[in-house]
Amino acid sequence: MQLRHLRRLLATEPTLRHAKNAKNADSAGGVGEHAGRARRVRAVVERLARVERAPLVTVESTASVREGLHHERLVFQSPVRGSFDGTLLAPLDPAPGPAVLVLGGKNARLDQLTGDVPPDHPDRNVAEQLARAGFVTLSFDHGIGGGLDAGRRAGRDEGTLLAHAFALTGRSLLGALTGDALGALDVLDAHPRVDPLRVGLFGHSLGAAVALHTALLSGRQDVPLCTASHLGSYQALFERLLTGHEGAVLPGILEYADLPDLYGTLAPAPLQLQYGTADSYLDPDDARAAADAVRETYTNVGAEVEVHELAMGHGTHVGHAAGFFTRTLATTRPPTQAAPQVPAQRIHFEVDERRTVLDRVDAALSSGILTQGPQVARFEELAHPWTGTDTAAVASGSAALEIALRIIGVAGRTVLVPVNTFFATAAAAVRAGAAVRFVDIELDGLGMDPDALHAALDRHPDTAAVLPVHIGGIVSPALDPVLAHCHRYGIPVVEDAAHAFGATLDGRPAGSFGRFGAFSFFPTKVAVSGEGGLLSAASADDLEQVRRWRDHGKSAQGSTLHDRPGGNWRLSELHAAVGTVDLERFTGTLAARRVLAARYDALLADVPGIRPHAVPAAAGSNYYKYLAYLDPDGPLDRPLLKKLLRERHGVALAGEVYDHLLCDHPQFARQRELDAAGGPFERARWFARHHVALPLYPSLTEAEQIRVVAALRSELP
Ligand SMILES: *Cc1c(COP(=O)(O)O)cnc(C)c1O
Repeated sequence: MQLRHLRRLLATEPTLRHAKNAKNADSAGGVGEHAGRARRVRAVVERLARVERAPLVTVESTASVREGLHHERLVFQSPVRGSFDGTLLAPLDPAPGPAVLVLGGKNARLDQLTGDVPPDHPDRNVAEQLARAGFVTLSFDHGIGGGLDAGRRAGRDEGTLLAHAFALTGRSLLGALTGDALGALDVLDAHPRVDPLRVGLFGHSLGAAVALHTALLSGRQDVPLCTASHLGSYQALFERLLTGHEGAVLPGILEYADLPDLYGTLAPAPLQLQYGTADSYLDPDDARAAADAVRETYTNVGAEVEVHELAMGHGTHVGHAAGFFTRTLATTRPPTQAAPQVPAQRIHFEVDERRTVLDRVDAALSSGILTQGPQVARFEELAHPWTGTDTAAVASGSAALEIALRIIGVAGRTVLVPVNTFFATAAAAVRAGAAVRFVDIELDGLGMDPDALHAALDRHPDTAAVLPVHIGGIVSPALDPVLAHCHRYGIPVVEDAAHAFGATLDGRPAGSFGRFGAFSFFPTKVAVSGEGGLLSAASADDLEQVRRWRDHGKSAQGSTLHDRPGGNWRLSELHAAVGTVDLERFTGTLAARRVLAARYDALLADVPGIRPHAVPAAAGSNYYKYLAYLDPDGPLDRPLLKKLLRERHGVALAGEVYDHLLCDHPQFARQRELDAAGGPFERARWFARHHVALPLYPSLTEAEQIRVVAALRSELP
């Protein structure tokens, strides 16, 4: 074995390393920097572990009393590993108390962990000893000893065989074990003898690796973790064992983080590390250095890690572990820590979706086609069912609007825009050379008011285009008379459908009503590509013009002659890689948003001081925003309400659409004077002042919705 060569191979500098970076970095940035790095490490671990989030099912449970302990023999069904045994031990007092998930080493036998048979080593029966110290314990068989028949194993180590089988599918044994441990945490949480706010993790050796990764992926920020006989750098552990350390390491992890980095990521959660100076699997100097690195990370965020260097072999000091859990699980965690914030917005991609994006980015990079290639074509194709027309992908929603207006040719003429919309609607018209004039809205579907539009068309006979906006994802029934007015005057309509991808009116998709429809895939919208837009066009000729304009105004595809002042409004393949993945799941996105909206409707029905916006029956909203109105007779102070919800309840409301009318932006100060005749936009002003938008995104849970509504109930007069 050429050890020097191996060393060189393993001497990767992890890109998300803790301690090293911390030393170089300005230590003032400590806590915030740590939080950012910890988030990135957890994301990498999540991606490499590829945990199946299917629940662990308890298929059998037999309870008895054994030597002064409540004893439950359990059989679990795991989505990845089939069925395996577990044991729950608890003090006889049935009142809910603290609990520890106990994960044994690779060769640990469940019946020894639990003391069902006398342990072959005094510290083996960790689960029993912790139960006698007052904790509910749950432990299970890793199922990597004795599951495969001996003949076919032909003397080979079962863990190794399993690890290799997982590797063939791009998965890992550690990921599978961690998935089961996460499921076991849920089993503990739900158990009547367990206080779910007082649950800790213990692991020995391989079990320590599982416990560490479970802590990293549990989503609980402060779960106490005690590990024994599992400390050092991956390089030293490898050199000692000269195996891939099957089941204990995520393949590829060393590129991002070494073992001490993973422990450090847990800071400031309570952590106890035990290692023995006579442990033949570890190098004591290396373990000590690793402990120092973890300690440094903890110190940087003002927390402490408990380290026990012990005169023991590859074992556990159960007394220290019991002491640690007694201290850290003595009291229920404060609810602010237990309940994370409900953010205004959560952009969530599942690990499988993230991996698909990465694969598509990889395909783009390896092909060298970085823009305007197959991913963009697929993005346009996937959009078709939602737009009802062919579309051309562009760089942004703003680019889509500007291209439409340039094709129409609005320079030197008037473009009519609702006074309640995002700045970009009007700015696109300004860039295309038009004079913008504002029109009031109607309060039913929040669209352009047909009567106000009629008056504006009379006032501005040079109107070149009208831009209705589908506010909050509602295509207003008032769009019909708006279209009729425009049709009568022969004025083209460009729908600003930036909010409305997937929304309909009388079953017809947003963006299919006007000559053009402009969509945005900015991260706050219902479908996202990072940056991106789509322009739908009713006619094939218009769509071909869009393709010329987005590509520097080339007179034909591939031509080096340019016949119009086009721009670089192309969508990159890398953005399309994100966009295609988001569109592939869009049916689910839309369904989830509608379920959430219906639930808010029901939950808010008896809450005084707030009234949901009644979406017109003909409109199939995508619920880009869930809009509600604060009682106009109440003490209206939206900023104060938002502040109280945030500070007292950890609930953030979403951004309004919009809090300022366009005519009130400094950019349009001059229009304000010119528009005196169009003002005072009473309905838009009422809307801007009274509405709120509740957090709504597919990953929002029912519990979070209940929390949002409870917070509103307690803060509204
Ligand atoms: C987001 C948005 C736009 C602009 O879209 P980008 O992709 O950010 O350029 C235009 N109009 C409205 C109403 C929007 O909400």
